[in-house]
Amino acid sequence: MVKEYYRPATLAEAFKLQTAASAWLAGGSSLLCTESPSVPGNRTMADVPERLIDLKLIVPAAVARENGNLVIGAGSSFQDILDSDQVFAALRAAAGSMSNRNVRNRATVGGNLADNRSCASLTPLFLAMGTSLQIASSSEVIETVPLEAWLVQPKGLVLKVIVPCPENMLAVSRHSSRTACDVATVVMAVSCRQHDGRLTDLRIVAGGFGPHAEQRSDLERLFENQTLPERPAIETAVRPLLKALDDVRGSAGFKSQLGAVLLADLLHELAARPENFSLQPSPATRIPEVRS
Ligand SMILES: Cc1cc2nc3c(=O)[nH]c(=O)nc-3n(C[C@H](O)[C@H](O)[C@H](O)COP(=O)(O)OP(=O)(O)OC[C@H]3O[C@@H](n4cnc5c(N)ncnc54)[C@H](O)[C@@H]3O)c2cc1C
Repeated sequence: MVKEYYRPATLAEAFKLQTAASAWLAGGSSLLCTESPSVPGNRTMADVPERLIDLKLIVPAAVARENGNLVIGAGSSFQDILDSDQVFAALRAAAGSMSNRNVRNRATVGGNLADNRSCASLTPLFLAMGTSLQIASSSEVIETVPLEAWLVQPKGLVLKVIVPCPENMLAVSRHSSRTACDVATVVMAVSCRQHDGRLTDLRIVAGGFGPHAEQRSDLERLFENQTLPERPAIETAVRPLLKALDDVRGSAGFKSQLGAVLLADLLHELAARPENFSLQPSPATRIPEVRS
């Protein structure tokens, strides 16, 4: 149950306020999101930490290109990403997959990473792109760490998300959900280069199958620098490797099938139309609001 709320103006102040019973608060769209108390095991207000430390004044929220990277302040909202003229198409699509504008206005990039949900909209793409994080573990110690490592052992405060955008690199992220307003059932994110229809430096990340999004080197090895098989052959090869958990988002078999179809589509699209997947800034577009 929340008893204290603070909005510190400096990192030093924020770390001084931190206790075992405190939590960083960004948009609150996960931390303050509770479920019906009548169902045993549900998360209720009683589970929300007693002390909230609002990050609004201390975590940056700008989106900028710096030295070949896209640098995103961890306090940027999903809507900030959609409104920026600096982001590339794959990131715009991943942010736009959260279809409700109210949540997009609140939900931040840092909160999405720290949440580390299996079906997160942004994490699979960032993992596929070899993203690093700028982390403050105190007001004096600020270091850059690979996202992959941080997700295994998250600590400190995420200040910036640094996404490498080398020339000729391509990236895409696509999800499938039950309705346009639902969280994803599965997410597939791919980054690679393309030469004569072959995909190289391939990184594939699958979300929605296990407890967290995961890089899949077994899938990468199947297609790295190969002549791509036809879509049905890709689906047949990939489906048994995509072992999934049965949960409210879908059955294991349904998720394996969806993931295999998504990946076959993405690989073929990357091979055939690389110009659609560049990391150059793509124009901001207004996405239509979806009514549930
Ligand atoms: C209706 C609804 C729909 C949703 N749809 C989607 C969806 O489509 N896709 C999706 O991915 N998610 C979805 N979510 C989940 C949630 O909105 C996202 O995970 C969001 O990005 C969380 O960000 P936040 O800023 O609200 O984080 P908060 O709720 O404020 O915090 C989440 C966690 O991150 C920690 N944290 C926050 N910022 C930092 C930081 N800078 N450094 C370290 N730790 C930090 C907090 O302490 C907390 O543990 C949805 C939620 C709701 C309520």
